[in-house]
Amino acid sequence: AKEGGRNSYAFYSDAFFEQIQRKATLEQELRQALTRNEFYLAYQPTIDLADGRVRGIETLLRWIGPSGDPRSPAEFIPIAEDCGEIIPIGRWVLEQACRQARKWDQEGIPFERIAVNVSAIQLRDSEFGAMVIDTCQKVGWAPERLELELTESALMRDSEVLRRTFALLETHGVSLSVDDFGTGFSNLHYLHRFPVRHLKIDRSFVFHLFEDPAIERISEAIVGLAHALRLRVVAEGVETDAARKRLREIGCDEAQGYLFSRPLGAREFEAWVRTRKA
Ligand code: C2E
Ligand code: CA
Ligand code: CA
Ligand code: CA
Repeated sequence: AKEGGRNSYAFYSDAFFEQIQRKATLEQELRQALTRNEFYLAYQPTIDLADGRVRGIETLLRWIGPSGDPRSPAEFIPIAEDCGEIIPIGRWVLEQACRQARKWDQEGIPFERIAVNVSAIQLRDSEFGAMVIDTCQKVGWAPERLELELTESALMRDSEVLRRTFALLETHGVSLSVDDFGTGFSNLHYLHRFPVRHLKIDRSFVFHLFEDPAIERISEAIVGLAHALRLRVVAEGVETDAARKRLREIGCDEAQGYLFSRPLGAREFEAWVRTRKA
């Protein structure tokens, strides 16, 4: 192993350098993406497992870079978080989402809430809560019909800023959901400390539902825990009818995934809603 040591060191350092360069390029492009109108939103419904109705609509950020190819949010969101761009980008996402929701509501498209993903970095900003409420007011969207999706790690930090932010949001009826539930930490204090209304079971559980009996029991336990706390449970990544059926039996309230719809651009989403009704 020692023999190859030098070579593999050179190999790794090249790859490392490339990675840093790619990150720097992405960061530079990200800073211009908003003014160049390179972002748009995709929408994916969460479906009520009892009656098949659309309950929520999750907005997912999409970016077509200057070269014309789509970039994955899994790659660029962490970079936007590192360089602080997530703050203006997050503001833009929220406003766009609320505008689209208002338009669809006025057009008679039936749904309950619009959901927006929020980064832990945005929550550190003491202005965040006020920004959310101001945006709702400006756009004319009822804050009671806005849901913010947060990961467990974002809810884990207990600071004065966070408490004030959530108190303000709760006063206006904004709801929170815990995204990727089950992948984070096992400290569950935040569930009663903050106004959480939904738990989203991470899609890694759903994917392995039939492979491993333990996964099924964990999923059942998550549903039991959520219901004891009067939270609704949304299963992510539902791709098959078998998974839908099993999750319904387990007691999941809502489901989201390719089985119902992929995330779609606004026009495509409207078409999807129409074909469903017909
Ligand atoms: P997430 O919030 O957990 O979003 C769910 C991801 O699962 C989305 O990936 C969605 O396209 C994908 N998905 C939905 N249904 C299925 C399915 O049935 N099967 C499979 N295999 N995947 C499915 P996407 O759009 O690439 O987003 C990745 C992540 O990027 C999101 O994970 C979220 O953490 C982050 N993200 C996306 N948009 C935003 C945003 O506006 N703000 C912030 N802060 N983060 C965002
Ligand atoms: Ca999400
Ligand atoms: Ca998720
Ligand atoms: Ca995720």
